[in-house]
Amino acid sequence: MKRNGGALMPLLWPTVSVHKITDIKAEQLHAMGIKALILDADDTLSGHGEQVLFPGVETWLASMKASGCAMLIASNNFKERVEPFAKKLGLPFISLSLKPLPVGLLRAVHRLGTKRSETAMVGDQLFTDILGANLIGLRSFLVTPESMEARFGFRRRLEVSIRKKIGYGVLGGKEKLNGK
Ligand SMILES: [Mg+2]
Repeated sequence: MKRNGGALMPLLWPTVSVHKITDIKAEQLHAMGIKALILDADDTLSGHGEQVLFPGVETWLASMKASGCAMLIASNNFKERVEPFAKKLGLPFISLSLKPLPVGLLRAVHRLGTKRSETAMVGDQLFTDILGANLIGLRSFLVTPESMEARFGFRRRLEVSIRKKIGYGVLGGKEKLNGK
């Protein structure tokens, strides 16, 4: 598969597609030259609007921090949802981040203090997280929301059909996934 899917919807194409956020490994980020992650909240770290993390995410966050990876939560959800969540995790945050518009993600990169080339977005939605990352030249990790099958709406259905084309794994050809 060509980088960014070739001519096929390049702006919706993630760098890497994984099942869960915990599938992203520090060694992989190191190999990709990524020093910071911008994390989506809903359906990426936890269920939609929920304060309880998905299994394994707390340990994953701790190991990422220990590896020296800087992290920040950027959510389109309200401050009331994001702030207690981010505080509990000890992470900086941007609420109402307006993804996929560049404004919030550019602020996120600025706060992280990394270059765009060293920063990756992690999220579950093609039309906000991945599109937003591609618009400002960030690499991206697409995770699969557990609740996706249960959701309705045109955008989600469109996502499902595009995701079938994306599949899983490294899409860029140059990146390394789990040392392979
Ligand atoms: Mg989300």
